[in-house]
Amino acid sequence: RKPPSRKGSMMDVPRDLLDQIKWLEEQFYIPTEKLKQITNHFIHELEKGLSVKGGSIPMNPTWVMNYPTGHETGTFLALDMGGTNLRVCEIRLPEAKGEFDIIQSKYKMPEELRTGTSEELWEYIADCLQQFLDYHHEGEKLHHELPLGFTFSYPATQDYINHGVLQRWTKGFDIDGVEGKDVVPLFEAALHKRGVPIKLTALINDTTGTLVASGYTDDQMKIGCIFGTGCNAAYFENCGSVPKLAHMNLDPEMPIAINCEWGAFDNEHVVLPLTQFDHTVDQESPRPGQQAFEKMIAGLYLGEIFRLVLVHLHETGHVFEGQDISKLKKAYTLDSSFLSLIEEDPFENLSETADLFLNRLSIRPTQPELELVRRLSELIGTRAARLSACGVAAICKKKNIKSCHVGADGSVFNKYPHFKARGATALREILDWPADLKEDPIDIRAAEDGSGVGAALIAALTLERVSAGNL
Ligand code: BGC
Ligand code: MG
Repeated sequence: RKPPSRKGSMMDVPRDLLDQIKWLEEQFYIPTEKLKQITNHFIHELEKGLSVKGGSIPMNPTWVMNYPTGHETGTFLALDMGGTNLRVCEIRLPEAKGEFDIIQSKYKMPEELRTGTSEELWEYIADCLQQFLDYHHEGEKLHHELPLGFTFSYPATQDYINHGVLQRWTKGFDIDGVEGKDVVPLFEAALHKRGVPIKLTALINDTTGTLVASGYTDDQMKIGCIFGTGCNAAYFENCGSVPKLAHMNLDPEMPIAINCEWGAFDNEHVVLPLTQFDHTVDQESPRPGQQAFEKMIAGLYLGEIFRLVLVHLHETGHVFEGQDISKLKKAYTLDSSFLSLIEEDPFENLSETADLFLNRLSIRPTQPELELVRRLSELIGTRAARLSACGVAAICKKKNIKSCHVGADGSVFNKYPHFKARGATALREILDWPADLKEDPIDIRAAEDGSGVGAALIAALTLERVSAGNL
């Protein structure tokens, strides 16, 4: 199968740029056979991650042991520490399955915090929580500590649900003194210092929250995914299928949610078709050699890959001749929304893309250069969507799931043009579905709010289990 292209408009593109476009297509387009090969290796790596020896995909047990029944009730706080924002929510779970009552505030995660000190991070988070309570519970006397579900979307080793040793920072975070430590006491110390009446009940991953929140409203939901600043998935295994838990003598039939941390897939570069630009992204990141899969898919990196390609094409004399590209030379100056805008440009002459280049980068591309830029965005966005499908296909094949819903959230899934359709196409290719199927048996669709509602539900489930003496 050939990648789709804007053939009509390529007519006036000079030979040299056409050659460059062709080269880019070879670099970035992943044909069906390769997708299948990646998927097969992925299945193997998922299994390795569950084994006693382990592999590069962490496959972290989350101690989330079941889906909500719909009878969860009470008021919970949820804290979502994502890659870009910090969100605090207060969620009232209804007596019977129904609408959630939710109030929330968003706080920007200041850029400096990503590379600051551990103390600054926890202080900032505690300040936001305190502000939230001061604002929404002003003058009230809280009679007991409010239970909190903390969505901490980084790989963590958990011995129980309110515990989590950060394995490593991802998504460009680089804060000293947290990796290798349990984040719960660090967080609680900052709260206690301020006398904030909150009790951390559950530490969760955004994917697990997505899985549980989506499962609450849709019983066909089997996988929770995030395609945002980072990328990852969670699904349920039976304890009996997780060899690394065997020593704990858990009921083999008991389900447990596994946070795959699949961003780390193929860190050893066995199967992923990395380009020179992917190698540069990796080398220049704070954690070279890690999150290989994520670095080709996640929103944090798509704009950077695009930028590196354009700088390369300029330096080799193919684009923006004689122009000042100093703005383009700044690392991470473009995020994935820049590519989204290019892909959304409705005009035949790509005039919006031209404006974008002028306003953001002080570059005036020629018409053929605009065509190249558009094609490059399509290639990078398409590659991300097609690779994502390999992860979903691998989980389904491993679990022998023939049909299900997959709940997906995150800025790339929700905002990047054609991401869903491109992922669905790739899934059809990988799983060899007949062309005349009316509906896709495995359907990746928009999820419920996992980091807010999901975190609250998991906190509620945890309290239920505590009171039943099952923790
Ligand atoms: C993190 C995961 C998270 C994903 C999506 C990755 O970088 O390691 O824990 O689920 O981003 O937010
Ligand atoms: Mg998030």
